[in-house]
Amino acid sequence: MVLAATPIGNVADASARLVDLLGHADIVAAEDTRRLYDLARRLGVHVSGRVVAYHDHNEKSLSSGLLDEVERGATVLVVSDAGMPLINDPGTAIAHGAIDRGLPLTCAPGPSAVLDALALSGLPTDRFCYEGFLPRRHGERVRRLRSLRAEVRTMVFYETPHRIGESMDDIAQAFGPDRPMALCRELTKDYEEIRRGSVSRIVRSVHDDPPRGEMVLVVAGASQEEMMEASESILGVDDMARLA
Ligand code: SAM
Repeated sequence: MVLAATPIGNVADASARLVDLLGHADIVAAEDTRRLYDLARRLGVHVSGRVVAYHDHNEKSLSSGLLDEVERGATVLVVSDAGMPLINDPGTAIAHGAIDRGLPLTCAPGPSAVLDALALSGLPTDRFCYEGFLPRRHGERVRRLRSLRAEVRTMVFYETPHRIGESMDDIAQAFGPDRPMALCRELTKDYEEIRRGSVSRIVRSVHDDPPRGEMVLVVAGASQEEMMEASESILGVDDMARLA
């Protein structure tokens, strides 16, 4: 079974391996079959295998049947609408099922918005953590962000245009106005835009000129000082002294 990345905007980012797999796989499990055929058409590939819709709502129930096919020797290709499967996209159930059953599993890697944004952010890339989407509900989002106040690694969040304003306000509350960050929008597309600056600058820009399209937020980790301060407020000064 092969987990394959698809372009996140620019069709020319499709790998030669993806093109080959689309043409030759026995079964293509695609998050959205219409988008799969559209991608194949743009790549000039004829998908000869069986195409099945494989998405968040049916991935658990379909996985075992698809893995039976892998056991019988079929090449099953798993693709999502954009980027890497399993990265906030379907694929986890079938990948974990293949591992549990000892079936062949490999990856045809390629574009993913996490790494694209991280590389363009101008922030440290040697240690980072991927936080996916922040919770939709305000209270949960604030709790999640507070739990990250002592995080020293660069943090990557996926975000949507209709929540960006609220999320940026909560990020400013949790991390303060001065943390360096980047808002990376419409990556690999014609209107790609990277806004870099302090949290307060990005908050202002988001309210003055609301960004549209798909976006990723990359936020610098806590400085040593901020980390100590946040840890003290979580653990208390006495616990910190005991740990020192
Ligand atoms: N599997 C994908 C990946 O590997 O990046 C992520 C899929 S997730 C459902 C969709 C989110 O990814 C978007 O809401 C956005 O945060 C981010 N994203 C995907 N494509 C993007 C792009 N071209 N520019 C900026 N962000 C993007």
